[in-house]
Amino acid sequence: MHITSLTLANFRNYKNASIELEQGLTLVVGKNAQGKSNLLEGIYMLSTMRSSRASSDADLVNHAILESDTPVARLAGTVERSAGHLLVELAIVGQGKGKQRSGKRVRINGLEKRVSDAVGQLSSVLFTTLDIDILAGPPIIRRRYLDMMISQVDRGYLRAMQRYQMVLQRRNRLLKQVQIGKSDISELGFWDHELAHVGGILFDARKNALIGIQASVNEYMRQLSDQYEEVSVKYRPAIGTMPIPKGTTDPDQWANCLLEAKERLQKKEIETGTTQVGPHRDDVEIRIGNLPAGAFASRAQLRTAALSLRLAESNYLRQNTGDEPVILLDDVLSELDAQRRESVIEHLKNFPQTIITTTNEEHLQTLRTFANKEFKVSKGKIS
Ligand code: ATP
Ligand code: MG
Repeated sequence: MHITSLTLANFRNYKNASIELEQGLTLVVGKNAQGKSNLLEGIYMLSTMRSSRASSDADLVNHAILESDTPVARLAGTVERSAGHLLVELAIVGQGKGKQRSGKRVRINGLEKRVSDAVGQLSSVLFTTLDIDILAGPPIIRRRYLDMMISQVDRGYLRAMQRYQMVLQRRNRLLKQVQIGKSDISELGFWDHELAHVGGILFDARKNALIGIQASVNEYMRQLSDQYEEVSVKYRPAIGTMPIPKGTTDPDQWANCLLEAKERLQKKEIETGTTQVGPHRDDVEIRIGNLPAGAFASRAQLRTAALSLRLAESNYLRQNTGDEPVILLDDVLSELDAQRRESVIEHLKNFPQTIITTTNEEHLQTLRTFANKEFKVSKGKIS
């Protein structure tokens, strides 16, 4: 699929900007702090309904209007895809003095939709320089990598994720009450089953997604590195001392496994007042050349593996939606040597639309030979 037009109004440092986009490679150039990343963030939000970096909705609304009566950022994009024409409109209401409820409102082809129904209508993959944290950062970043990838292709997964968060909070509250003797231990049963049921859906989907990307992560790594070393992505579900289900699995099997793990840990969970096992504590073990990547890989290896993970994600979205995602590259090429840079661009030619930001004048010359279109971003204006 590809985006044909984009509008950003009161979003980040954009007051009002509209651009027409084309297939192929688009460059977004500009000095630091002008709005290049904000532009890609805007596109990514139209796709995932979540920011790649903001901690609250208010961060996304232009500061100048945050205290006004209508502190609203608006994003709109038109998209051509195999499933037909798409118009996505997202309004983000910040707090400020406004009377409107804060949060997000979305319309798909003019009709108001739940945010969860709008996720993945426009499919995209965002590459950033922070991606090496998928390998070197804490487990939450690996879970997010999986969550953002799977929820773009599987609406059931997204609903399970939301339900899981709710059930987890309720259960943790109850655990604390049981701990101080204000609730009876028997009340846990209902929430245990609820948690196991939705948790089973998440476990099973994550396991399958990792199996689904393993071969292509490796293939990209092989093509992008000089000295090839195998990368493995292994699921580490948080199921305590229970053995990991092998072979083909289903959500029920995982749910039973989680229930049993909970039984074994019940005493500890009540003592600590927290849920010790479940998808919220999952991890993925990533190894390069059979060593844990986070602890042993070199900087260049981490970068190459991070790129391979994002390319594999792009491939995964294509395979599971029947349409190519829009590829967004935020500044990642400047970290690579010339050969690797061209190799990445070569791979991205398999996708109908790629948008790349850069500040680097030197690389711009080569990039221009591949590009169809170039925008300059300066102080929140696009030309
Ligand atoms: P770099 O090359 O350093 O990555 P960039 O062009 O990607 O720069 P952005 O991250 O897009 O820059 O940020 C551009 C500017 O937007 C920053 O100076 C930031 O302070 C500003 N900005 C961020 N959020 C808001 C907001 N809500 N309102 C107004 N300005 C904002
Ligand atoms: Mg930037």
